[in-house]
Amino acid sequence: MTGTAERHATLQRIAVFSAGLRGHLLGEWRMAEDYGRASCTRCGAELRVYLPALYPEMEGAALERLCDPKSAERAA
Ligand SMILES: [Zn+2]
Repeated sequence: MTGTAERHATLQRIAVFSAGLRGHLLGEWRMAEDYGRASCTRCGAELRVYLPALYPEMEGAALERLCDPKSAERAA
Protein backbone atom coordinates (compact mmCIF):
# COMPACT_ATOMS: atom_id res chain seq x y z
CA MET A 1 0.00 0.00 0.00
CA THR A 2 1.31 3.41 -0.92
CA GLY A 3 1.65 6.05 1.79
CA THR A 4 0.01 9.43 1.58
CA ALA A 5 3.33 11.31 1.47
CA GLU A 6 4.48 9.17 -1.42
CA ARG A 7 1.24 9.74 -3.30
CA HIS A 8 1.57 13.48 -2.72
CA ALA A 9 5.15 13.47 -4.03
CA THR A 10 4.15 11.56 -7.15
CA LEU A 11 1.18 13.79 -7.79
CA GLN A 12 3.25 16.95 -7.33
CA ARG A 13 5.81 15.71 -9.86
CA ILE A 14 3.05 15.14 -12.41
CA ALA A 15 1.47 18.51 -11.66
CA VAL A 16 4.75 20.43 -11.85
CA PHE A 17 5.53 18.76 -15.16
CA SER A 18 2.07 19.45 -16.60
CA ALA A 19 2.12 23.10 -15.53
CA GLY A 20 5.70 23.43 -16.73
CA LEU A 21 4.67 22.44 -20.26
CA ARG A 22 2.69 25.70 -20.31
CA GLY A 23 5.52 27.73 -18.84
CA HIS A 24 4.27 27.88 -15.25
CA LEU A 25 6.53 27.71 -12.24
CA LEU A 26 4.55 26.39 -9.29
CA GLY A 27 5.26 27.79 -5.85
CA GLU A 28 4.65 26.33 -2.43
CA TRP A 29 2.17 23.48 -2.10
CA ARG A 30 -0.67 23.34 0.35
CA MET A 31 -1.59 19.72 0.84
CA ALA A 32 -4.42 18.02 2.68
CA GLU A 33 -5.06 14.31 3.00
CA ASP A 34 -6.60 13.94 -0.44
CA TYR A 35 -6.28 17.41 -1.94
CA GLY A 36 -3.56 19.87 -2.79
CA ARG A 37 -3.00 23.12 -4.61
CA ALA A 38 -0.24 25.42 -5.73
CA SER A 39 -0.06 28.66 -7.69
CA CYS A 40 2.33 29.83 -10.37
CA THR A 41 4.88 32.24 -8.91
CA ARG A 42 4.96 34.22 -12.17
CA CYS A 43 1.33 34.63 -13.25
CA GLY A 44 -0.68 33.37 -10.25
CA ALA A 45 -2.52 30.63 -12.15
CA GLU A 46 -3.73 27.97 -9.74
CA LEU A 47 -3.43 24.22 -10.06
CA ARG A 48 -5.59 21.94 -7.94
CA VAL A 49 -5.06 18.23 -7.54
CA TYR A 50 -7.28 15.56 -6.03
CA LEU A 51 -6.32 12.10 -4.88
CA PRO A 52 -9.35 9.90 -5.17
CA ALA A 53 -9.12 6.17 -4.65
CA LEU A 54 -8.25 5.17 -8.20
CA TYR A 55 -6.23 7.88 -9.88
CA PRO A 56 -5.35 11.54 -9.37
CA GLU A 57 -7.17 14.37 -11.08
CA MET A 58 -5.92 17.86 -11.83
CA GLU A 59 -7.63 21.08 -12.81
CA GLY A 60 -7.03 24.81 -12.75
CA ALA A 61 -5.89 27.76 -14.81
CA ALA A 62 -2.31 26.48 -14.86
CA LEU A 63 -3.48 23.62 -17.09
CA GLU A 64 -5.73 25.76 -19.27
CA ARG A 65 -3.56 28.65 -20.37
CA LEU A 66 0.04 29.51 -21.03
CA CYS A 67 2.03 31.36 -18.40
CA ASP A 68 1.71 35.10 -18.94
CA PRO A 69 3.08 37.31 -16.15
CA LYS A 70 1.40 40.30 -17.79
CA SER A 71 -2.03 38.84 -17.03
CA ALA A 72 -1.14 38.79 -13.32
CA GLU A 73 -0.06 42.42 -13.50
CA ARG A 74 -3.36 43.39 -15.10
CA ALA A 75 -5.33 41.50 -12.47
CA ALA A 76 -3.42 43.05 -9.56
ZN1 LIG B 1 2.25 31.00 -14.80
